[in-house]
Amino acid sequence: MTWFGQPFSDRVPLTPGERVEVRRRAKQLAARRRGTWIVLAGAAVAIAILVVFVPSIARTLRDWGMPWTLALAATNITSVLVLLGVVFRLLHRIRVRAHREAVRELGFPVCVECGYYLRGHGAGGSGVASRCPECGRPR
Ligand SMILES: [Zn+2]
Repeated sequence: MTWFGQPFSDRVPLTPGERVEVRRRAKQLAARRRGTWIVLAGAAVAIAILVVFVPSIARTLRDWGMPWTLALAATNITSVLVLLGVVFRLLHRIRVRAHREAVRELGFPVCVECGYYLRGHGAGGSGVASRCPECGRPR
């Protein structure tokens, strides 16, 4: 999956008007999903880090001779960065998938998993592939 750039294959023949429509639909789809997943995943990761990892890592660092305040600061800053990373990764995944689904809604068969354009990959080199030739996901 791409981090930046286009979330689906650039072989999809979208007109400028369709591109605008894809962005509009993707925004709606992403907005519908964002809330639930962020709350669930964010809360689970935050609780896991705060309850399990931060105190034990801070204690380990102190046992290795690091001053206690420095050990606490280092582990807390690291856990916040990890949490932000997870949240942004999740947001990005939701946004990319929403774009692919919006493209599919317009009638262009792209793989939801990797964004590969599936037209012309069916049996005998025509039609639409039943399984993504790029990542193997059934369509
Ligand atoms: Zn794929």
